[in-house]
Parts: sequence; structure tokens; C-alpha cells
Amino acid sequence: MTGIDLDMRIRSFKLKLIFSYIFVIVLSFGFIAFFLDKKLEENSLRNIETSLTNQAYLVESQITAENIKNEDITHLEPLIIALSEKIKCRITVINSAGKVLADSEKSQKDISQMENHLYRPEVRLALAGGVGIDTRYSSTLKIGMLYVALPIKEKKDITGVVRLALPLESVGRILNEIRKIVLLGLILALVLAFVLASIIAAQTISPINRMIHVSRKFSEGDFSRRVLQTSKDEIGELAVTLNKMAQDIEDKIKEAKTQNQKMSAIFNSMIEGVIVINKAGHIISVNPTIERIFSVRRVDVEGKLFLEAMRNNDIAEVIGAALKRGESVSSEITLIYPVRRVFEVNATPIFDNKAVDGCLVVIHDITEIRRLETVRSDFVANVSHELKTPLTSIKGFVETLLEGALDDKENNRNFLKIIQDHADRLNSLVEDLLSLSHLESKEIALNKSNFNLRQQLEKVILGFKSQLKDKSIDIKNELPASISINADKDRTEQVFTNLIDNAIKFNKEKGSIRIYVQEEGDKIKVFVEDSGIGIPGKDISRIFERFYRVDKARSRELGGTGLGLSIVKHIVELHIGSVGVESTEGFSSKFWFILPR
Ligand code: ADP
Repeated sequence: MTGIDLDMRIRSFKLKLIFSYIFVIVLSFGFIAFFLDKKLEENSLRNIETSLTNQAYLVESQITAENIKNEDITHLEPLIIALSEKIKCRITVINSAGKVLADSEKSQKDISQMENHLYRPEVRLALAGGVGIDTRYSSTLKIGMLYVALPIKEKKDITGVVRLALPLESVGRILNEIRKIVLLGLILALVLAFVLASIIAAQTISPINRMIHVSRKFSEGDFSRRVLQTSKDEIGELAVTLNKMAQDIEDKIKEAKTQNQKMSAIFNSMIEGVIVINKAGHIISVNPTIERIFSVRRVDVEGKLFLEAMRNNDIAEVIGAALKRGESVSSEITLIYPVRRVFEVNATPIFDNKAVDGCLVVIHDITEIRRLETVRSDFVANVSHELKTPLTSIKGFVETLLEGALDDKENNRNFLKIIQDHADRLNSLVEDLLSLSHLESKEIALNKSNFNLRQQLEKVILGFKSQLKDKSIDIKNELPASISINADKDRTEQVFTNLIDNAIKFNKEKGSIRIYVQEEGDKIKVFVEDSGIGIPGKDISRIFERFYRVDKARSRELGGTGLGLSIVKHIVELHIGSVGVESTEGFSSKFWFILPR
């Protein structure tokens, strides 16, 4: 609503108020005037009638029955003319036959032409013995007249009638005077009413005006304004209600805002992807996780149909089903691009008055869970397989021995030796598994201390003396004499043991091993380089996985469990370090690990 519109409305309200005042005054004055006028007219007529009747009695007393009977015009005429002048009204004398004998307003000549008056109402009444009164238009004088007639009696006989007539003009005049006064009063009252109504209207409208102004601010969203409460009447009450309403709305808005902020904070920080869809399948909103998963921007997808914006049929089907069935629908989907990821999609319908109004899609990245599940089941399969091989052999040789080979002096020791080898293998497998599960539990506390790394390595090399000699492998400890590190001594020993064990196992006869270090700020990078068989490029990335071996048979033959590197990786990572390998197949492998000092 524009300001001009509002102004017009306010003015029209003011006019309405003023006119209603004026209307009430005019109406009440009208009523008063109407009844007053009627009453006055009646009263004046009654008064005139009474005085005319009295005067008629006086005139009647001057006229004798004889005068009538004898039609004594000469006497009658001057008498009524004289009386008429005195009482200022017309006098007519009529005999019992209705013939006009004398009239104060007419000459004898005119009288002779006057019609018979027997049927004039007042004359008839008088001839009947009463007082005849009538008001009517006089055809003779052409004006409204009041007639009063009295009988002229001789003993009991009525010989004639004397009639007095007065023009009603005078009654009108008196009434007009009164009407003028009433009209003046009315005009005065109207002016007064107009002024008073204007003042009252202005007083009534000004708080309303203020309320309109404040309400307009409310409609613009500014609920901080309040209406000043000036009166204790209904308008004051309205102001209080308006203020309370504004306060309530302001509180509600504040509450909704806080709620909204909370919701959007949750919405934006959720790890799960969330899409809000309306009942027509259009996207209302998406959170940053969705933007990341689908490589889209919120502004580009909002308002679009899901399929149009994301182009994923599986999710679109889940959404469609949730909207259609009005119940939660879940599904597992796999996204291939840009990287393969597995998601659990959950679409829950949103209801408005029991009707589906949209749905909330929550997308949960379960790639890692699925990967771990696969790793676990692979691990179980691997462990079972690794345990089964030596166990089968042990069982086989024990059976052979029991079936008679025990007495075979040449071979029985051999068989027992094989059984012992397999039992050793089982033992180292179980030991490695235990140590791995212990490391993986992440609950182990590292027993850190400062020690000399070179001396530590020297001790490990000493343990491999016979193996090194068997294969004529030359090993060089090139660590600086002063190199010290803060780490778990026993576990660092295990890292060296596993790496050197491999470097010997997968080395050639008369091969070599070099262990050296590179200092990198507050970290050291230790290399274990051998001149062995090397590792094919395709296997390098998987070499640190549990049970992963380039050549299973060879590893087993060499007493390997496939867990050594996995244990190395775990220990180094527990020290917040990292491991890696570089290799040239057929020539050399260079394993390295970085540890903080
Ligand atoms: P294991 O040595 O018990 O088989 P590891 O986890 O220690 O298990 O090693 C995994 C695999 O990595 C080995 O089977 C072998 O194929 C390869 N490998 C490890 N170290 C070397 C090395 N120095 N040279 C060549 N291959 C190696």
C-alpha cells in the first residue's frame, strides 16, 4: 500500500467519523423539528379555534333571531362589518336555509350570487346545535381558512348561523418563525458537530496513525518498533496487543534464527552428504560434502531436478521410491568417477500434514568400511591358508611315521626334521601374527629411549652371522658412529631384523648389503640396500600388505611368513614415520624408513 493510498483511507475514515456525527445530529434534529412542528401547529390551531369560538359567541350575542328571520340586512350588514374590523376576521351570517344574509367581506351584490352554504360542514354542525369548526381551502377567497360557526337560537329553534373565518396564513407565520429558530439551531449544532467531530476524529486517528506506521514497519520485517500507549481505552488496548504481538514475533524470529543457524552449522559440517528434495523432485539444498562428492556447486544444482543436476540414476531411483512410497529407502551405490567409492544412500520422506512434501537424502561414504571388511576376510582366508600348509605337512609325516616309517632307520630322523621345520614355521607364523595384532591394536605404548643406532644395527648384524656366511654376503654398516635416536629400542631392532632378513633371503650368492643414513632435518632416513633379486614394478605398491609375496613358494621355502614388511610398516608408523622401497628387478632393492629423531 502506498503512502497516498493510506492517506486517502485515513482521510475517508475521518470523513466517515465526521459525517456520522452530522448524520446523528441531523436525524435527531429532524425528529425533534418534525414533532415540534406538528405539535406547535396543532396547538396554535387549537388556540385560534378557541379564541375564534369565543369571538363567535360575542358576535352571536349581537345578532338576534329576529334579524335573521326578517333578513334585516340593513341592520346586519353594518353590524358585522363593524365587528369584523374590531376582531380582524371575516363574519358571515347565514339563515337556517343556508342562504348567506350578510358577509363582512362581500357586498350585497356579491352575496346574492354566493352559493347556498347549507352543506358547509361547519354550518351543518352549527345548524345541528353545536359549535361547527372546519379548516379548508376557501373557494371564495382562494386561501386556507379556519371556520367557526355558532347557531343563532330563538328559544329552542335555530334560525340561523353566524360564522367567523380567519385565514390560516397567520398560523403559518407563527410556525415559520419557530421553524427559522429550529433551523438556526440546527446549523449551529452542525458547525459545532463538525468542529467537535474533527477534533475527536483527529484524536482517535492519531494513535491509529501511529499504529499504522508501526505496523508498516512490522510488515517490512522491523519488529523492534513499539506503539506508545497513550490511552486506556480500546485503542490503548489495541496498542498493547500490537506491542505484545511484535514482541512475540520478534522472540519467535530470534528463536527461529538461532535454530536455523544451528541447523545450517550441522548441515554444513556433516561428514555425510545431505540433499533436501521437494515433492516434485527438485533440489532445495545440498551440503558441502555433496559438493565434494559430486564435484558440483550448490548454486548450480539448487532448484534443478536431481537427475538433471547430479546424473546418478541409482540415487534418483532411491529418491523416486521414497517420494512415491512415503517410507525410508536405502541402497548401496558405487561411484566410479573420479575415484571408485562406495556410498550408502538413505532417502527419508518429509511429511507435511501426512502428505509427502519432499525427502531428505543422506549419503554416507562407506568405502573404507567395505575395504576393511575385504581386508579382514582376506586376512582370515590368508591366515587359514598359511596355517593349513604346515599343519597338513605335519599331519602327513606323522601319519607316515605311525604307519611304519618310524622303524625306517634311514628316513625316520629325516621325517622328524621336516615335522620340526613345519612346527618352526607354524611357530614363527603365530609369533608374527601375534606381534602384528599387537601392533595393530594401537594400544601399545612405545617404550622410547635415546640410543645409538649404529651400535643397535651392529648387534642385529651379529645375529645374522651364520646366514651371511652361508651365502657369502658382504654387509656394510655405514651408519655414523655418533648417530643416536629417540625410539623404541626393541622395535627398532625388529625393523632392522626383518629388513636384513629379507635382504639376505632375497639376495644372490656373494651378494652385498649396505645400510646407510640420510639426515633430513629432525628426521633420519635409513636405507637397507641389497644386490638381490629385486621386486617387479607391479608388486612394489603392495609389498607392505600382509601376506603379500612376489613369489609365495620361494618365500615359504625360505621360511618367510609374508608378514615381515607389514610389521616393519606398523612399527615405523607407530613412531610417526614412513616406509618405502625402490627396486630394479634382477639387480637390487633399496628399502628405506624415516624416523623422527
Ligand atoms: P617374507 O619375507 O616373510 O615373505 P615380507 O613381508 O618380509 O615377507 O616380504 C614380502 C615379500 O616382499 C617377500 O615375499 C618378497 O617377495 C618381497 N621382498 C621383501 N624384501 C625383499 C628384498 N630385499 N628383495 C626382493 N624381494 C623382497
